[in-house]
Amino acid sequence: MSAPGTALVTGASRGIGLAIAERLATGGWGVVLTARSQDVLAQAAERITAKGGNAVTVAADLRDPAAPEAILRQAQERLGPVDLVVNNAGTAPSSKIEHTDDATLAEVLDLHIAAPFRLVRAAIPSMKERKKGCVIQIASTAGLRGFALITAYTAAKHAMVGLTRALAVELARTPIRCYAVCPGFVDTEITRQGAAKVASMGNRSAQEVMDMYGAMNASGRLLQPEEVSAVVAELASTDCSVPSGSVCDMDDMPPTYRQAN
Ligand code: NAP
Repeated sequence: MSAPGTALVTGASRGIGLAIAERLATGGWGVVLTARSQDVLAQAAERITAKGGNAVTVAADLRDPAAPEAILRQAQERLGPVDLVVNNAGTAPSSKIEHTDDATLAEVLDLHIAAPFRLVRAAIPSMKERKKGCVIQIASTAGLRGFALITAYTAAKHAMVGLTRALAVELARTPIRCYAVCPGFVDTEITRQGAAKVASMGNRSAQEVMDMYGAMNASGRLLQPEEVSAVVAELASTDCSVPSGSVCDMDDMPPTYRQAN
């Protein structure tokens, strides 16, 4: 069986992105891992190569408008044309809207909208030429519903879902597929940071806030990153029959994916 191709995963140094990179590598994808911290990325790539996977790293700050094209160029030089883009990198700063400053707003919009847009814009021409490609946005249930104390993030994640839907229509007459995956609360650094911040605003401990996040998921518990990576791997598979443009609501997902659109 031929290898599925080259996948570029942003925010692949830890959490959901690392789980996605590991899962794709196990499935035979060559994976390009990107995030800011080269040291942490190198450790992540070592974990993958130790298990027989093919992984390279490109360190970059996705807030830099030139970074997406530079990452894609390096990815292509090192592992060949990119067949799958997984836009996963992100931060989720918690604060009341009146305490959310312009710098925070700009970071969230840069990471969840501008960088994914630029990366896809750079990747699409080669995908069109080769008549092959897939784009997966790691959005959130915050891309589907409202959440307090993360208004900028919630607005940005809604835009990520909008980007997926618009892309799917624009690319409907090509073989390129686009999806958004919307997890509920997952047990990762972003969630722990959010819990610590929310705890500092009130009279609950960070652990109590984490427990509350778990209770807010339909399952009553926090998701594990591997549950998200399993969905991504299935959508990325070339024989996947989930229609392009589908938005997978992981907080309300029976064995076959319920589509939010
Ligand atoms: P995480 O563990 O904090 O990982 C975030 C990743 O993004 C890291 O690899 C981080 O690496 C990278 N990153 C952050 N800022 C960056 C920047 N300026 N440039 C490049 N890379 C950057 O968080 P996670 O939970 O895995 O989140 C991954 C994605 O899932 C995010 O888009 C998040 O919104 C989404 N999501 C998470 C949850 C959840 O509950 N955890 C739920 C739904 C959706 P560096 O810091 O080294 O750059």
